[in-house]
Amino acid sequence: MQQIILAINAGSSSIKFQAFAERAGDLERRVVGLLEGICSQPRLIIRNGAGETLAEQIFAPETIASVEAAQEIVGDWLEGPSGSAAMGGPLIAIGHRVVHGGADFAGPVRIDDRVLARITALTPLAPLHQPKNLAPILAWQRRRPDLAQIACFDTAFHRGHGDLADRFAIPDALYREGVRRYGFHGLSYEYIAQLLPDLAPAVAQGRIIVAHLGNGCSLCALKVGRSIDSTMSFTALDGIPMGTRPGAIDPGVVLYLMREKGMDAASIEHFLYHQCGLKGLSGISNDVRVLEASSDPMARLALDHFVYRITKGIGALAAVLGGLDALVFTAGIGENAADVRRRIVDSSGWLGLAIDETANKARQFDISARLEGPRVLMIPTDEELMIARHTLRILATV
Ligand code: ADP
Repeated sequence: MQQIILAINAGSSSIKFQAFAERAGDLERRVVGLLEGICSQPRLIIRNGAGETLAEQIFAPETIASVEAAQEIVGDWLEGPSGSAAMGGPLIAIGHRVVHGGADFAGPVRIDDRVLARITALTPLAPLHQPKNLAPILAWQRRRPDLAQIACFDTAFHRGHGDLADRFAIPDALYREGVRRYGFHGLSYEYIAQLLPDLAPAVAQGRIIVAHLGNGCSLCALKVGRSIDSTMSFTALDGIPMGTRPGAIDPGVVLYLMREKGMDAASIEHFLYHQCGLKGLSGISNDVRVLEASSDPMARLALDHFVYRITKGIGALAAVLGGLDALVFTAGIGENAADVRRRIVDSSGWLGLAIDETANKARQFDISARLEGPRVLMIPTDEELMIARHTLRILATV
């Protein structure tokens, strides 16, 4: 009977989970689940590896008012008859996405009391995300203390950044206590970096910018398969605009909000994480689909600004890389919004990038217009598979 590894990716309002069977070092997807709309309109959908629906349920908001409550629903299903049948083997380990690994964690680790304390101590660096990542770890510790649990950090892939990229221009004492440019979305970037040698061998060892455009958005500069810089930094607020976050903003704006608007840290935090970005600028929605369908000029402005800032970010990272061999789009917007892809490539034409509109609309892998010059690629990301791979590797080393 094959052994099962569970990958959990818990976000602010959703839990994504996937179960994989391990066969001779390979991972076969058995269960793909999503519990979204926590606290608002909770909806659970679970499919098997072939995409067939195994469970679908809508809950009253008050029944799932926290990630903890959501985790119990997920755990009960997985350990119940339907989940056991779908997994087809005993659960042996759980890998978790953990947003912040700080300066110390340069790779995945098995969670013990010491590791848990260190992850918890990093909460001030990711106040909204880290507690959501910790909740399922604690829930599974209570539910199944016998299982190995592995933490896979979003910051780890960026830990090799050089000193220049890792710093702000602030006194060294703050750097030493951890005020650094960490970078996030590392599991997504690592997955893409691992795929590129097979999918695009001619450019995989070159200079690549990956645009992870989802609810959170960032860009990563890859050189010879390694991250050398990224637009996100100390927190997941920096860089390019996102669904509800502004991206880089003059710190003077924060001082203005404090002094002139009387806002405290908690209200500014809520503002920066939930009321800015595409949603704040448009005043309509954080969802690119809604903005594209709207005739409101503010929806147009929000999308124009999004493309403009990403274009600027690509230019900055191309400068750091000393040129560009490929631009890769991934995540919800990067994989699905063909018009956003086209506009970003068009406005980055000075780098030699050009898009084939037919291939772009057909969601092909290589959407470059030219045979020569830098490639334009679209690669669906798979953070859960990356978590499962890390988990398998750590299990093998223990
Ligand atoms: P998360 O960061 O939560 O994993 P995703 O990577 O799933 O988010 O990205 C979610 C975003 O993707 C949505 O907010 C939406 O703007 C965008 N998106 C999803 N599908 C489409 C589509 N067909 N066209 C345009 N945008 C899309």
